[in-house]
Parts: sequence; C-alpha cells; structure tokens
Amino acid sequence: MVSVVPRASAQNPTTNLHINSQRLQSTLEELSKYGRNPDGGVTRTAFSKEDQAAREYAMGLMKDAGLQVRVDQAGNIFGRRAGSQNLPTLLFGSHIDSVLHGGNFDGDVGSMGAIEVARALQEHKVVTRHPLEVVIWANEEGNHFSQGTFGSAAAAGLLNDDILRRQDDQGLTLADWLRRYGQDPARFSEARIPPASLAGYVELHIEQGGTLDEAKIPIGVVQGIVGINGWTCVNQGFANHAGTTPMNRRQDALAAASRDVLVVREEVNRTPGRQVGTVGTMKVEPGAPNVIPGRVEFSIDLRDLESARINSVWARIQKRFEAIAAEENVTTTCKLMETVEPAQADAEFRAAIRDAAVATSLATLGLPSGAGHDAQNMAKITRMGMIFVPSRGGISHSPKEFSTWEHVANGAEVLYRTILLLDERVNPQ
Ligand SMILES: [Zn+2]
Repeated sequence: MVSVVPRASAQNPTTNLHINSQRLQSTLEELSKYGRNPDGGVTRTAFSKEDQAAREYAMGLMKDAGLQVRVDQAGNIFGRRAGSQNLPTLLFGSHIDSVLHGGNFDGDVGSMGAIEVARALQEHKVVTRHPLEVVIWANEEGNHFSQGTFGSAAAAGLLNDDILRRQDDQGLTLADWLRRYGQDPARFSEARIPPASLAGYVELHIEQGGTLDEAKIPIGVVQGIVGINGWTCVNQGFANHAGTTPMNRRQDALAAASRDVLVVREEVNRTPGRQVGTVGTMKVEPGAPNVIPGRVEFSIDLRDLESARINSVWARIQKRFEAIAAEENVTTTCKLMETVEPAQADAEFRAAIRDAAVATSLATLGLPSGAGHDAQNMAKITRMGMIFVPSRGGISHSPKEFSTWEHVANGAEVLYRTILLLDERVNPQ
C-alpha cells in the first residue's frame, strides 16, 4: 500500500495559515483608496483629510476585531486585547501615513497585518498570557512638520513640547493639528509609554530594499536598524583666474573634493560588511566656468549597525582627507551634523521570528534595515523585533512599490506566530 501524502502545502505554502489572506488583501485594497492618486500609488501624508479618513477606517477594523481602541495625546492609535495574566503588554503595528506619491505597502502591510493578527486571534478564540496591543503610529514619514517617526518618538519620550510650536506650510502648528485630532497639546507628554508597561515591540514591514527579492527569500529577520552619522565638510582653497593661474600654483577646492568623494567610497569598501557611505550634495563656489573653485561644501552620510564601525571608517577617511588637503594646498574641515544611534533587534525576538517562519515552512535571512522605522524608537524603551517581506525590485516610496499578496500573507502569518511564541517565552525582566 502506498499512502498518498497531500502535496497542497508544497504547491501553495499559503494554504495552512492562521490569518485570513483574502481578508488581509481586501483591507489593504480598501485602505489604498484613501488618498489614491489618479496615476497610481497614494498621497496620504500625516494630518491630512485622507490620513484622518484612513485612521477612521483602521479604527473601525480594530473595533470589529474586538480591540479596545484609544488614541493617545500624540495621535497614535492603540487597540487593546486583554491577557489572562497581569503582565506587561506585547505591542505590534506600524503606520498608515505615506510620503507624497508613495506606494500602498510601506507601513500599510504592517498595520493591516497587525489588525489581521488580532482578527485571527479573535476568530480562533486564542487566549494569551500578555495583553496585546495593535498600534498605528502617527506621522511616521514626517512629511508634515519634518519630524519622521513622530508618534513613536513621542511614545518613547524622545520629543519635548518645542515640537508642538513647529508650523506647517499653512502656518498651522502641530498643536493646532493635534487639537483637530481631538487631542489636548497641553497633555502631550502623556503619550510617553512607561517602559515597564511593555514586554516588547514587533513590527512587520516591507524591506524597501532589494536583498530579499534578489535572494528569493520570503522572510527577513531584521538584525537592527542602522545608525547614521552625517557630516558637512568644507574644502577651502583660493578662487583665481582659470586662464592666468598656472597648474602648479592652484588651490583648487573642487579637485580636492573630487578626490575626497572617491576616498569615501574606497574606505567604506575597504573592509567586508554592510556599511554604506554617500556623498549626496556638493556646493561649488564661486561656480563659474572661468574661475578656479575656491570653496566647496559637501555632505558625507555613513551608515552601519555598529557605531564602532562607522567611527573606524570615519577615522580612516579623515586621515586621507588630511593628506589630500596637503597635496592640493587647501584646508578641509568637517562638522558632524547628525547622529542617529543604531537600534539593535533583541536576540530572543529574532529567534522567535525565525522559529515562526520555520513553523510556516518559510526560509529566512538576517539583514539590517537601512531605512528608519518606528521600531528604532521603541528599541530605546523595550525589546524590539522586525519582520521584513520582499519589495519587488527593492522599490519603495514610489507608486511602483509592490509586494505579492503571498509575501504579504506570509509576513502576517509570521507576525501571528511570533506574537504567540513571544507570549509563551517572554517573562518580565
Ligand atoms: Zn514605513
């Protein structure tokens, strides 16, 4: 006798899911209507009419999922599900605001995925030890008021009241907008989440890069979110006549800067690793075809998961800049303008995500996040884990942003299982 083993799961790995992939797809399609652009994609910037309507839609879904919904003083939406024990909360979610002419997956997959997890838990009558909360963070993209990851930064206690006075293009302050949302700006600091009330934070998100798509791996286990150091450098030479100044008498600030640009790339590439470095702007003065450039200002952006690696690459760059400045007869000064600390994902959370993927028969890849996320703020106050799903062609912040429905469903299923594994494994520290 030969027994026949059903092969359905091998052909279609999404058949054995706890979450409802059809329902998840239809909520994402419905959400995409809020701020849809005629030429595709979405413009749903935070604190816009479209964003407000989408938030109402999301809150309706959360209530349907049996969650107790509240909005905090920074405009973050929380949906709570009670636990059986008196334990800190397991928090998971993402954002639904977009950039101008953005896509329908950045933030949306993690937000609708988190709500789908809550609906599936309700459907399967699952009782967890920890209380669970779904969160939709306010103004992640920072298009309004140029403060990216606004809501989670407020929740992590990283913002003070000064930000409330910041004005938008129409002269309205953030405080005005929060009032429109029904919040009381005087109570802004109440958005802060006491760290002891959290057991951890998990975020599902599209990768926004091409690593998973290229490797054909469905689930990314985020190792951490890279830190950023940004400098502005100035090469000071001497502006002089392009016709009358002999080549050996020049103090050409642009020739020096050109060598500096290549040095940045060489020193970033010198050691193995995923560190990246970019010179993204250059301002040449006086900027005339018949004048030797006397002053050049340029930016340097270095990113890695380890601050120590950023620092060692920078030390090598500086040394070579000095040598170039001496050879080119210019002075080079660099000023650190921006520091974003790297945020490490928690080892136990990463293990839970890997185990959840294995249980779903999905391959995983560990990778850093080169883009910023709300999770990096949460990492300051609690343990954090992030699940990535592939972005086709690594395209994001574009109407062309796309992840297959199968990848989206896989990500939500891994989120579902991760939450349940963490509920079992995580104990108060
Ligand atoms: Zn995002």
